[in-house]
This record gives sequence, structure tokens and C-alpha cells, in this order.
Amino acid sequence: MAVGFDIGGTNLRGSVVDIDGTVIDTENLPTPSSLTAMDRAIARIVDKLASRNNIGAVGLAVAGFLDPSCNRVRFAPHLPWRNVEVKTRLEDLLGLPVRLEHDANAAAWGEYRFGAAQGAKIWTLFAIGTGIGGALMINGTIYRGSFGTAPEFGHVTVVPEGRPCPCGKRGCLERYCSGTALATTAKEIIASGEFPVGDSCLATRHAADSDTITGRLVMQCARRGDPVALAVFDSFAGWLGSGLSLVGDVLDPELIVIGGGVAAASDLYYDRAVDAYAAQLTGSGHRPLARIETTRLGGDAGMIGVADLARGLMA
Ligand SMILES: [Zn+2]
Repeated sequence: MAVGFDIGGTNLRGSVVDIDGTVIDTENLPTPSSLTAMDRAIARIVDKLASRNNIGAVGLAVAGFLDPSCNRVRFAPHLPWRNVEVKTRLEDLLGLPVRLEHDANAAAWGEYRFGAAQGAKIWTLFAIGTGIGGALMINGTIYRGSFGTAPEFGHVTVVPEGRPCPCGKRGCLERYCSGTALATTAKEIIASGEFPVGDSCLATRHAADSDTITGRLVMQCARRGDPVALAVFDSFAGWLGSGLSLVGDVLDPELIVIGGGVAAASDLYYDRAVDAYAAQLTGSGHRPLARIETTRLGGDAGMIGVADLARGLMA
């Protein structure tokens, strides 16, 4: 068996994954903020899982920049690793082979092996959560670019001088098409005064405390037919269509899989996003369209994928 770790900003989750990609045991801890506490937490989870299962390798899906050999974490905004050789460090600590992978690449591997992308030759993952995570696979290989950072779909400028992005630029796609963007767009629509406050529970909540407006709340309100929330998803679907057409124009994949936390609400935007994608794709109407599917492994894709990659080290 291999253990796959999903390392979020708040929660550290390790799961034992079997050869068919099924999660069979899980342990959680809060994500530590220091280097040594991170070592201890990972070792503790592996020890606990190893007391109940036969563990041969460990994989970690990391939200951050890795070197192309996947040994060193150069920078991970929500984690304590800054230019640290995490693979070597953890192999010494755990006495097991360790596989690091960028979280979007790990999720893509999971979908390719066990999920929506089985059998696909040239395909991309478009993972929409706090931001946008991207991955590209060609003939069963993860494409990472020359320096390990490809592909960054989320930070392509779509609105010159648009919304500020934590990356330092303005108008990046993920500022308009992400879980975070749902809240930003909701606040903009409410501020425009287009919808009377009394007609929208989202606007009422915003008037009481604007900090309570989150992507998750916008999703919940859209399901109840809230007019502001539905207008937010109109905007979101249009931007997602633009993003998908951009991916289609540059890479011409056969399949784009929509993943990440916002994929769970795909019924709220899928049809309109695919229509917008088809309308904006260069040469639309005169070329085959890529299939647009949603994740089959959901939030477990990265963990399942990186456990499977780690299993490859056990031979
Ligand atoms: Zn950006």
C-alpha cells in the first residue's frame, strides 16, 4: 500500500490508497506552521497508518512550486517549506521512498489512472478552487515545462488593469473564475445596486456583514434561486468559457477535465460555460471540440494520484 498526503493550508490529510485507487484508511492533523512541526505531523500520520496497514511508499501533493525533479519545494505560499529538499528530508525521516508532486499534477495523475481522463492522450486538468490549478498530460506523461511551473492557466491576464491578484499582477483569469472570484463578483454585483437588497438573501447577508460572503455561500444561495447568486454564476460561466477556449486554442487537447472544489457545483454553470467555450474557440464550427468533463475523483484526486505515483517507487 502507499500513503497519499493532501496538504492544505489548514488540514493535513494522509490516506492509505490501494492499487485500484480506493482510499481505505485516513488520518488528519491541523497543518503545522513550522518546518520541524511539519516533519513531526507527517511522521505521526504515517506511523498511525502503518500500525494498521502495510506501507511501502509515501506521496505528497503540494500546492507550491517544485523543481522539475520533484525533490525540492521552492515555495509554497501556505506551507513552511522555502527552498527545502522535502523529498530527501522525509525519506531520511520516514525510512520509506517519498514522491513529491505539484497538487494539480497529482490530481491529473489520479484522474488519468482512475477517473475522468482514463485513456486520454492529450488532455488538461482545469482545477477551480481558491485559484486555478492547471495540469497538462501528453501520452501518459505530466508536462511540467523547463523549470517545473507549467501550466499556469490561472494567471493569464484577461482584464488589463483588472482585479488585483496575490501574484502581483492585475486582471488574472483566476480573479474572475475561482471560488474566491464568486465572492468578489457577488460583492461587485451587490454594490452595483442592480438587485434590491430585500430580493436577495446574499445581499441581505452582505448588508449585515460583507465578510460573510464566501464562494461556498454564493453556491448555497444559487441553489435556492437567489438572483444575485445566479447572476454571479452567469459571470463565472462566461469567464470559465473564456478560460476553456484559451486552453483549447493554445493546446488543442481532446479533453479538459474541470476539477477543484468548484467542480462540485458544476450543474450551476456547466452548460453555459461549454456554450461560451464553443462560441469563443478560434475556428469554432469548423473543428472538433474537446470533451469537457468534470472530475470523477473529486477532492481526493490529488491524494489518490500521488499515492499511485509513490507506489511506482516500490518496485
Ligand atoms: Zn495572478
